[in-house]
Amino acid sequence: MHIQHNAELKAYNTFGLSARAGGLLKILHTGDVHEVVSSGLHPLRILGGGSNILLKGDVEGYVLKNEIKGISIIDENDNNVLVEVGAGEVWHQFVLWAISKNLGGLENLALIPGTVGAAPIQNIGAYGVEQESVFHSLKAIDLTDGNEMIFDKDQCRFGYRDSIFKHELKNRCFIVSVSYLLYKKNYTVNTSYGAISEVLKSKDVHNPGIDHVADAVIEIRRSKLPDPELIGNAGSFFKNPVISVAQYKLLKELHPDIPCYSAGEGLVKVPAGWLIERAGYKGIQKGNVGVHKNQALVLVNYGQGTGQEVWQLALEVMSEVQNRFGIHIEPEVNVW
Ligand code: FAD
Ligand code: NAP
Repeated sequence: MHIQHNAELKAYNTFGLSARAGGLLKILHTGDVHEVVSSGLHPLRILGGGSNILLKGDVEGYVLKNEIKGISIIDENDNNVLVEVGAGEVWHQFVLWAISKNLGGLENLALIPGTVGAAPIQNIGAYGVEQESVFHSLKAIDLTDGNEMIFDKDQCRFGYRDSIFKHELKNRCFIVSVSYLLYKKNYTVNTSYGAISEVLKSKDVHNPGIDHVADAVIEIRRSKLPDPELIGNAGSFFKNPVISVAQYKLLKELHPDIPCYSAGEGLVKVPAGWLIERAGYKGIQKGNVGVHKNQALVLVNYGQGTGQEVWQLALEVMSEVQNRFGIHIEPEVNVW
């Protein structure tokens, strides 16, 4: 077990923020996790691709960098394929693998950064689909006692950008593999999200297959979202708030163009990006950090920013949205 002491984490988070960890350990196999638990090292943090974390400062204790690989088909019938994926596989590589085999279910989630093991943590979602729609189960190791556990879909308690791993089991379970039930046949692609249907229409695709949808998603994402290689960010910093229809109606009297999407009985989802833009924050720069000029939901590091600067800006944005609209927006990003 090799420990890199006093390790710099800048290269390990897509915000590109500098912070040090007491120790950094690469986890290549489940046996490495058991070794860490037996050694009594603590406190422990689990790191995938670092695309959904904000390093507010140095990290106390040990960071376990997940690099457990492998994709294997473990069961198959006429309609479906059950695939078990090492949690350290890169999510987008897994999506490409599925597309290359013409397996449906993941195409709307193409190009989301990060690892497979982190996908269930916030039940990643994009363009009208969440990973839970094809999730089967996951294997995890309890970092308090080394016990191996299997979670089915119900036990994960998936919600909108949410799961049990953001609550009771936060920082407790190291996810080592995730299984997905993908479609071979009898599958209809989901093109309900406006931007996807527009791209398909513009290309005269009338009967889209999973590859057409994936290509459309990749095209839209490349054109709209800031590339962390060029400008540090962690995607959407905030979740879209869900409010009651009654509160929405009151807001609409004051702001007639406020958008919303249905979010279940009596509830609507309001795009946080719209609220932040209307609060006057889109494109602003504060010192070395700011709000992206095209995507108000994305906070950015212009290069020399610190985690504290990003966090102060986030607090300011949250407070301004609260003051103007009476809506509490909360971070989607995991703050360390
Ligand atoms: P990390 O940032 O490394 O970790 C995130 C959290 O998960 C941490 O709390 C960590 O401790 C925990 N964790 C990670 N791995 C494990 C594990 N094996 N076991 C237990 N806990 C673990 N998200 C979406 O939902 N939809 C999008 O469309 C989307 N687009 C994005 C676009 C950009 C440009 C960026 C930068 C981010 C985007 N994200 C999106 C956010 C992010 O990509 C996802 O949340 C992704 O799943 C994070 O993966 P990661 O491996 O980088 O996780
Ligand atoms: P967008 O298409 O400009 O839409 C803005 C917001 O409106 C989104 O947040 C989306 O909510 C909501 N929305 C739009 N059309 C919708 C529909 N038909 N049904 C329900 N909700 C709808 O968003 P964008 O920023 O370019 O992102 C595109 C997609 O990628 C979104 O699904 C977004 O969640 C995802 N994404 C996520 C992250 C992240 O870090 N979490 C980063 C980039 C992109 P939803 O967010 O609930 O879909």
